[in-house]
Amino acid sequence: MQPAITVLTHSCSDVRHPSVLLQTKDGKRYIFGQLGEGFQRSLVQHKTKSTKLSGIFLSGSLRWSQVSGLPGYLLSLAEVHKISEIHGGLYEKTNRMIASWKHFTFHTPLDLSPASPSSFRDENISVESVILGSNGSESASFIVQLLPSRGKFLVSKAKALGVPAGAMYGKLSSGESVVTPEGRKVEPHEVVGPSPTPCRVLILDLPTQGHVQAASNHKWDLQLKRKRDGESEYDVNVSGIYYFLGSDVNVNSADLASIAAKYPNAHHFVSHPSTSPDYMTLTKLLKLQNALRQVIPDSVPRPYEAKAQALLPAPFIPVKQNDVTGYATSDSVKYVANEGEEENECSPKNNLKDTEPTVVTLGTGSSAPSNYRNVSSTLVRVPTTNGARALLFDCGEGALNTLKRLYGPDGLRKRLHEIDTVYISHMHADHHLGLLTFIRHWQAENKGSLNLLGPAAIYKFASAWESIDVEEVDLNRLNFVDLESFIVGSGYSNKDSDRNLPTEIFQNLGFSLQTCRAVHCDRSYSCVLDYDLPDGETFRVAYSGDTRPNKYFAQLARNCNVLIHEATHEDELLDDAIAKRHSTISEALGVGRDMMAENIVLTHFSQRYPRLASVQNLNFPAPTCFAFDGLHIAVSGMRKLQESIGAISDVIARLDLEEEGSK
Ligand SMILES: [Zn+2]
Repeated sequence: MQPAITVLTHSCSDVRHPSVLLQTKDGKRYIFGQLGEGFQRSLVQHKTKSTKLSGIFLSGSLRWSQVSGLPGYLLSLAEVHKISEIHGGLYEKTNRMIASWKHFTFHTPLDLSPASPSSFRDENISVESVILGSNGSESASFIVQLLPSRGKFLVSKAKALGVPAGAMYGKLSSGESVVTPEGRKVEPHEVVGPSPTPCRVLILDLPTQGHVQAASNHKWDLQLKRKRDGESEYDVNVSGIYYFLGSDVNVNSADLASIAAKYPNAHHFVSHPSTSPDYMTLTKLLKLQNALRQVIPDSVPRPYEAKAQALLPAPFIPVKQNDVTGYATSDSVKYVANEGEEENECSPKNNLKDTEPTVVTLGTGSSAPSNYRNVSSTLVRVPTTNGARALLFDCGEGALNTLKRLYGPDGLRKRLHEIDTVYISHMHADHHLGLLTFIRHWQAENKGSLNLLGPAAIYKFASAWESIDVEEVDLNRLNFVDLESFIVGSGYSNKDSDRNLPTEIFQNLGFSLQTCRAVHCDRSYSCVLDYDLPDGETFRVAYSGDTRPNKYFAQLARNCNVLIHEATHEDELLDDAIAKRHSTISEALGVGRDMMAENIVLTHFSQRYPRLASVQNLNFPAPTCFAFDGLHIAVSGMRKLQESIGAISDVIARLDLEEEGSK
């Protein structure tokens, strides 16, 4: 196998940050770039394996958004393959980043340490970081050297020197010397052909035009020529340059062209919003949503997609890297999305009525993201006399990306104006890793403060990032309230937790909130919210978070209009549900029955049920909806959705058959 570099992610709505994978001759893998939200899901979509992963190298400035896909990825990875070091070009920041994860990785300690890539060298590659600064902001780029490998073993030469076929061939080809039966010592270099020319690749992470200028002034040749320990001097030939460009960078600038001109023989690959098409890269999810739209068209909006605005300018060469996520011009990208249809500003405005409450299930899977289900997040949108207002129940990794994909750039802006509160049920990583990105975008779009309701640890985590990167997180514009403060009654609560809260916080919320402890992990919560509607009615919505069935919760949220309950497992996996402190589908329905809920939305399904869990032999106490990612559930439409469940099962079965057939 030849060493190869594959583009893993590029700047689009699903991931937003660029990364590449280097695979060596013997299958060792190294990741370079920014691991933003959606990184892990992108690997799943493209069946990129993480076995033999030998290094992660973080380029760029290590803003939260550039590394927010990393902790979720490492937590999933830890079950099969532990990584012990993270190579951050910015060593000190890498160290602090890893320290900040302690607020949610206590269940699965990662035992990680930061390492400086300036000294990285193993038997396959050496990596040197180059830190470029502009206006006080540093960004790390990398010079990657594939170390020369031994030439091909030549049987004819070995024979001529009297080496007998068999074990001695193996020793020589793996670099050991041998002694022939005639007593002649044969060295490996005597029996191999010439080594392949070593190859060198630059990863240039240039977030601003200032960084481009710094890179154009940098003495790359001096650094490339420098002889390092144990290395012979190589010529300065660079075979490939990957440019990870920030959105403000001018891809036609003279500075950028001058870097490229220095290496006329190199291949140049550019990742920039203007050159990377924004097609939906999660094509499997798209197929599922297209199929669902045949049955429940009003509830499954078509996602937003956009072509790249410009073609790649010379001297950059448009190269098709892989089918979907390559840095390529739009016409060379193969995609299944909405074939034959016009570029669209999507249509869910039709589905979001301003006259009644709507639940939008953004992420409906548990633990790690899969092709069909992202991690937890649910939007609840409620009409007011003055437009709509909305709240996010949990904010798993990629929640903001999903909003962008559903509503397009303009629609996302509208949603950010409507959302005034984010509620985090507990500190498991699949429920909050999208929060800090969401806060930053929310703050950029709004003037006031965002209400954040959650366990105390979520605020500590946000504070840790504020001290790492004050531009990423501004706690001054966050009204944080510990969910412990809203606990009502005894239940699982601590009796003296009924603390006095400043009344203005309650007034700011604009709804009343009551919580009880969930039966899940320490400091996990279930809640009920009451909204006053313009017609004088009250809209009561209950959210379980992750929990075993809980009778206190059923009492607390009695007669709610909508219960959103986790239903991680099918009924036959009750033992798993008990062991992991989750609920089965029938248990969740049972809570709905005890609660006398008018409608039930089931979500947070185990990734064992990638599309739909079994819906046979269930008793529904109220109209019930099985959530899918991106579903719009108007409260008045719940009964119709439940009646469609048979047709949905059929459509999914057909999709399964098609997929089987294409294998
Ligand atoms: Zn959990």
